[in-house]
Amino acid sequence: MRIDVISIFPEYLAPLHLSLVGKAVATGVLDLAVHDLRTWATDRHRTVDDTPFGGGAGMVMRPDVWGSALSDVLAPGATLVIPTPSGERFTQRTAESLAVSSQLVFACGRYEGIDSRVVEQHRRDGVDVREVSIGDYVLNGGEVAALVMIEAVARLVPGVIGNPQSLVEESHGAAGLLEYPVYTKPPTWDGLDVPDVLLSGHHAKIVRWRRDQSITRTLERRPDMIEALDPQSTDKADRAL
Ligand code: SAM
Repeated sequence: MRIDVISIFPEYLAPLHLSLVGKAVATGVLDLAVHDLRTWATDRHRTVDDTPFGGGAGMVMRPDVWGSALSDVLAPGATLVIPTPSGERFTQRTAESLAVSSQLVFACGRYEGIDSRVVEQHRRDGVDVREVSIGDYVLNGGEVAALVMIEAVARLVPGVIGNPQSLVEESHGAAGLLEYPVYTKPPTWDGLDVPDVLLSGHHAKIVRWRRDQSITRTLERRPDMIEALDPQSTDKADRAL
């Protein structure tokens, strides 16, 4: 997968060179490029913003600068992702849908955001445009939102996570549940014991215990997820909880 990020603060994207995503970039599993939007500004001051038509506070990012940048960076078949607090809410399903794209281009807004005609123009021209919010709060810019989305998407790309099995039982996965509690050595720490069943070596009992814990935790913390479960995906023991 090819990932491009366009920002006026390319240094903000430095964490993409760390950890699993950084390793995937270094080994060529992911092809990543971060671009400085000001490269496409045409005046001496490399201006990318101007005052809003209609008045009001703040500045708006110019469509002509974004238009030039995007026409250079977008390849045929790409998905243009525009982080914005007024977009669709980013979820694991969004990450899954973005993970199958050949190219993701993140357009990171600043100030009061990007002139609305940039989205209009690309939709009109048949580009797959996704305006996406990472939550109901307002950040100063789209860079942190892009980092969140890239990390969630990249770990779904084959070859990024060493053991793909670790994706299977995760929270918000195919089971539609939160993950069960996890433990490691030592078996007793500060007066707290690891549940006996996990030390029993009894595989079937461990599987059942984990499923029960997942359901109980989801019931307590996210009853909305339990309501959304497909009844066909539950068994008698689940329903007894
Ligand atoms: N005036 C805009 C509004 O009220 O919707 C907010 C602009 S915000 C200060 C600047 C930029 O931060 C946005 O263009 C977007 O790129 C990014 N941003 C802020 N909050 C975000 C969120 N919850 N999700 C995704 N991007 C966000």
